[in-house]
Amino acid sequence: MRLIFLGPPGAGKGTQAARIVAKHGIPQLSTGDMLRAAVAAGTPIGVKAKAVMDAGGLVSDEIVIGIVADRIEEADAKRGFILDGFPRTLAQAEALDTMLASKGLKLDTVLELKVDQSKLVDRIVRRAAEARAAGQPVRKDDDPEVFKTRLEAYNRDTAVVAPYYAARGQVVDIDGMKPIDEVTAAIEKALGAN
Ligand code: AMP
Repeated sequence: MRLIFLGPPGAGKGTQAARIVAKHGIPQLSTGDMLRAAVAAGTPIGVKAKAVMDAGGLVSDEIVIGIVADRIEEADAKRGFILDGFPRTLAQAEALDTMLASKGLKLDTVLELKVDQSKLVDRIVRRAAEARAAGQPVRKDDDPEVFKTRLEAYNRDTAVVAPYYAARGQVVDIDGMKPIDEVTAAIEKALGAN
């Protein structure tokens, strides 16, 4: 099963993707997680990406496409994967098409988490507070001001990606404002119907 999760930052993509991983045994390929790991490890990609990420902007297509191309070659991705946070631009979506076509693979479903953007800043503030309370590291970009920049990047560059897939009839809309378990149930229903 090859899935894509779309939706603005804070929509719950990471939370829901983790549940799909647990249930279906396919890896979650989160470009945000991969980039954060590169930053933490101080790799050349991490060094390039850090300032952009801290400011809430988008890392270059070239870097992100390269990361995903390498990652989907790994053994655990052979049975399928769930892409979380990628593609975030049309160029990335087109590059993914090329990558998959060259392997004779296709996407099964694109899940779009629909949310009320005016509620997202509150969510992100809560996510940061919960991480802090649990003694976990708080993401630098889970700051209300940086978050607004991330949302702007989403509306400017990423919002066009869902229509790109919708034109092929591949998008299933999921109401991301429902409680977490209900969102999971809606996703499972969509996947079951696939
Ligand atoms: P995320 O964890 O998906 O919210 O991503 C955190 C940050 O990583 C984003 O704000 C971007 O700076 C960067 N990033 C993650 N995925 C991508 C992508 N597909 N294209 C460009 N930048 C990305």
